[in-house]
Amino acid sequence: MADEAPADGRDAITVRLPFGERRVPRGTRPAELLREAPADLARRALVAVVDGEVVDLARPLERDAEVRFLTFDDEAGRAVFRHSTTHLLAQAVKRLYPEARLATGPALADRFYYDIQFPEPIGEADLARIEAEMAKVAAEDLPIVREEWSREAARAFFAERGEPFKVEIVDEIPEGQPISVYRQGEFVDLCRGPHVPSTGRLRHFKLLNVAGAYWRGVEGNPVLQRVYGTSFERREDLDRYLWVREEARRRDHRRLGPELDLFSFHDEAPGFAFWRPKGWVLFRELERLSREVQERHGYEEVRTPYIYRAELWKVSGHWEHYRDNMFLSEREGEVFGFKPMNCPGHCLLFAEKVRSYRDLPLRIAEYGPLARCERSGTLHGLLRVRGFHQDDAHLFLREDQIADEIADVVAIVDEIYGVFAMPYRIVLSTRPEDFMGEPELWERAEAQLAEALDRIGRPYRLNPGDGAFYGPKLDFYVTDALGREWQTATVQLDFQMPIQFGLRYVASDGRERTPVMIHRAILGSIERFTGILVEHFAGDFPLWLAPVQARVLTISDEVAAYAREAAAALRAAGLRVEVDDRGEKIGLKIRDAETAKVPYMLVVGRREAEAGELAVRARKGENLGAMTVAAFAERALDEVRSRRLPGALAGREAGEAG
Ligand SMILES: [Zn+2]
Ligand SMILES: [Zn+2]
Repeated sequence: MADEAPADGRDAITVRLPFGERRVPRGTRPAELLREAPADLARRALVAVVDGEVVDLARPLERDAEVRFLTFDDEAGRAVFRHSTTHLLAQAVKRLYPEARLATGPALADRFYYDIQFPEPIGEADLARIEAEMAKVAAEDLPIVREEWSREAARAFFAERGEPFKVEIVDEIPEGQPISVYRQGEFVDLCRGPHVPSTGRLRHFKLLNVAGAYWRGVEGNPVLQRVYGTSFERREDLDRYLWVREEARRRDHRRLGPELDLFSFHDEAPGFAFWRPKGWVLFRELERLSREVQERHGYEEVRTPYIYRAELWKVSGHWEHYRDNMFLSEREGEVFGFKPMNCPGHCLLFAEKVRSYRDLPLRIAEYGPLARCERSGTLHGLLRVRGFHQDDAHLFLREDQIADEIADVVAIVDEIYGVFAMPYRIVLSTRPEDFMGEPELWERAEAQLAEALDRIGRPYRLNPGDGAFYGPKLDFYVTDALGREWQTATVQLDFQMPIQFGLRYVASDGRERTPVMIHRAILGSIERFTGILVEHFAGDFPLWLAPVQARVLTISDEVAAYAREAAAALRAAGLRVEVDDRGEKIGLKIRDAETAKVPYMLVVGRREAEAGELAVRARKGENLGAMTVAAFAERALDEVRSRRLPGALAGREAGEAG
């Protein structure tokens, strides 16, 4: 305890702080050190990091130490903040429902939850009441104080309070490990900590939803209710989070997909999408974009089989490492597997001929079907499927070509993500602990990856030890219109598979060597990418992607023939056009076209029919005036060819997000 510590020189310790070194009495608390900290840090510090260990600001310092502070800007600081909010939630719940039994309350990446057994299940309508009580606890600004108890004391306390789950947790704490509880006002919770110093720090929170959960996640155990919430340091960040969440719900591709007539799912084929005609247009446009760019970069497209003998998967290593995720079947006493990846097939193609160093790099692209048996519980619309297609390619190259080839792949990433106004960032993952191959080969390859990125001036974050066992890799994270990140493109260097398949090429000195292989996909799974795009654009696709690019709307029956004629002319020019000649009011037809998110509405009445024109309306209600059929076709085709983006996104900076 600081106030008991003698302040003489004998019992002083040295503390190294970000803002200087101090001699202080043993037992000084980090909170006291904050008095000399810059005002902003003093106000915002949540917990301290003492020689690498995250602790409460009130934890006395026992020896010389290096001390830093975490704020809401730090990932670990946010986790403490949100976890502390779970205690606020638990305290409010115990005030309102004294019979409720508490289980555990961890922080998630952007939220938190607490598993609770209520006397009667609560509904979402009850959350506002709990929130109001939480606000009271926060306003009371109760200090959150750590105490260490004996096992017996903790056991007796929680048993007496009717908290069987807490008793169970106490019993499982290993002998010799301290048992800590945290007290805030009348409320005491079993917890390892650390926490923010007082409830007053937790002002901006929101309870989000309630779900069911088994105690410890084990079926058959007591059923609990999992109350989700989130909290932020600043009100405006909470508001922004809630807006994004609401907007994400509105844009959910699982709802928009069927609504816009793009795709559907059926229980008969879990994890496999049914592409309706309009959705398939979108899919093929993405493939077309990929082909166009890759052909320019010297890629050759192939199509390889999708079912192979188990022998192949044994050679590739999938049998050992990936068998549980494969669709296998037995025929004529032999096991076959549907391909989860294209690489083994491409290796067979490479090995068909004698390859010279002059043939390299060889770039083999494929858009064929792949299947991975993801667990049924993890399937999620198009974002997690079992059947999918990638803009996949395998590059076979000499070791001295790695840097050039990586730079070229990044150029492709730029071209493709630029089209969608999606900024991205790059993460370079290096040698993991259980790696295969020669360490020096790894070092050279990692250096070449880094060099390639440096040479083209691309910043990247290093993620040491997270590479695949066969080679280092680059992962690309794109940011969508809501600021959400998605991992999409990946570029993996592989030294192992060429060895497994015995691939060789004749080097310039006439000797045989093993090529290096790069696995790369830019869109990744086209299914998943479509799901991301539906949400990114909220279904308002740019003209080149829009399944229906224009709809001709008739004002009266007498112009129906002219409308069909105009539509036919536009189709002949290469546009995707529909006609709405129902006997409905024009206002209704316009609203329907807006709901269907058709980019252009072409209104025709007697005047337009006589002049051979169309009254052109953009989706957002903008009136572009009358123009001839040919003039509209030219304008629209130019927009398609340039793959221009609709209004709001057009101004967004593409390229890396930093
Ligand atoms: Zn806690
Ligand atoms: Zn591959």
